[in-house]
Amino acid sequence: VTVSALYQRYLEHLGGLHALSSALSLLGWDQETFMPPRGIENRAATRSHLAGLAHDGTVDPAFGELLDELAASGLDDVRAASVRETRRDRDRSVKVPRKLVTELSRVTAMAQQAWVTARKNDDWATFAPLLTQVVDLRRQEAEAVGYEAEPYDALLDQYEPDMRTAVLEPVFAELRPALVAMTAEIADRQNDVAADVLLGEWPVPAQEKLSRRLLDAMGFDFEAGRLDTSAHPFTSGASPLDIRLTTAYDPADPAKGIYSTIHEGGHGLYEQGLPTEHSGTPLGEACGLGMHESQSRSWENQVGRSRAFMDFLLPHIVDLFPERAVGLTADSLFAALNVVHPSLIRIDADEVTYNLHIALRFELERALFRGEIDVAELPDLWREHMTSDLGVTPTGDRDGVLQDIHWSFGAFGYFPTYTLGNLYAATLFRAAGDSLGDLDTMMARGDFSPLLGWMRDNVHVHGRRWSADELCRRATGRGLNCDDFLNHLRAKFGVS
Ligand code: ZN
Repeated sequence: VTVSALYQRYLEHLGGLHALSSALSLLGWDQETFMPPRGIENRAATRSHLAGLAHDGTVDPAFGELLDELAASGLDDVRAASVRETRRDRDRSVKVPRKLVTELSRVTAMAQQAWVTARKNDDWATFAPLLTQVVDLRRQEAEAVGYEAEPYDALLDQYEPDMRTAVLEPVFAELRPALVAMTAEIADRQNDVAADVLLGEWPVPAQEKLSRRLLDAMGFDFEAGRLDTSAHPFTSGASPLDIRLTTAYDPADPAKGIYSTIHEGGHGLYEQGLPTEHSGTPLGEACGLGMHESQSRSWENQVGRSRAFMDFLLPHIVDLFPERAVGLTADSLFAALNVVHPSLIRIDADEVTYNLHIALRFELERALFRGEIDVAELPDLWREHMTSDLGVTPTGDRDGVLQDIHWSFGAFGYFPTYTLGNLYAATLFRAAGDSLGDLDTMMARGDFSPLLGWMRDNVHVHGRRWSADELCRRATGRGLNCDDFLNHLRAKFGVS
């Protein structure tokens, strides 16, 4: 058998798996957007059956042999990268025993339900025993997958290939004190009532129009994607030619709709920019959650919260919300959309304090998986960290340790990818500016195509060919670092 015949068999097998994952993705999207409530039981059964087929196809021993043959066959760099990444995914699926997978899905389903009630009632005690089980199962999973230094590494690796605790530690050690100091300095000089210019009603139909205009300007292709609403905004899809974005609107707060749309739009542009000729293979997939978040964050923060962007945004507000626009200027809009204020809730956090919320979660997760702390200690440790880093203390667990859904479904090792995204966003945006020239002038007139083109050429087209760090290095000349992000904040907020 020739190498190209082997590779053809590989593509066909992946094609079958891709059909299943496309269907699963669209069923998941539909569940969050249009499915009537009573459809849930059948939908859960359908998804679980398809997921089982996908798992069987992945762990199929014949497929494993085919990957081994291909790995030893002297493929060119691009194909070798594709096979390497497929083996990485398959190895993980093979190593985790089926019994553990089933148990994890059973326990996390219960834990998610318990979390919803516990958060509503501010009742940590009913959630804690389930969370203890989830942590225990994830620790077993880490042992099954294997790791070099510590179990938490095996969890990080699932969301951010090759990421390690030892790489993240110095990152958070540098960010934490710098952000604490910066927050205090900004709070001292900031106009506390800057956001008041946005008070009043912002009709949702006009907000929907604004969202479409923003996505159009960013270069989102509505012939290859949709925008709908859901309780929690997300991006998914079946292929680069079928991307589903959701956003959410609050009639009392235009920022929610604007930044949910821009954020998910950034994710959507990455997905639409993945090379269609590699669809269904790792080379047609995003490089990791950190890089994905870099795309959403650079559009949201470096673009959407910049002073230059306000020159583009203001005329649309004048046009769509004439009553709200009276007296509004690009400067007052910029101040209103960039208030820095330590708060209890991560998803409401501003650009400066956001990563302090992630640092807290990273430290607790690391300690938990090292066995240094127990689940029972989380609420108190949470309060201590919030008080020392952000100067605010949750009175109940609802606004503390119970605020995120992530841990209930076992997503330990996920939170750090948000910070990685913020760091890569700053480095990529700086490099794009160095290469394109005066980005501010382009953004002010709503010309985002040079920026999108740069991201397409330097990030999107490469899929999963390299690790995020390597991709960033090739695109910008530097890998993961805190300097670009901290300098972005210093320049924007005029602090040391
Ligand atoms: Zn995101």
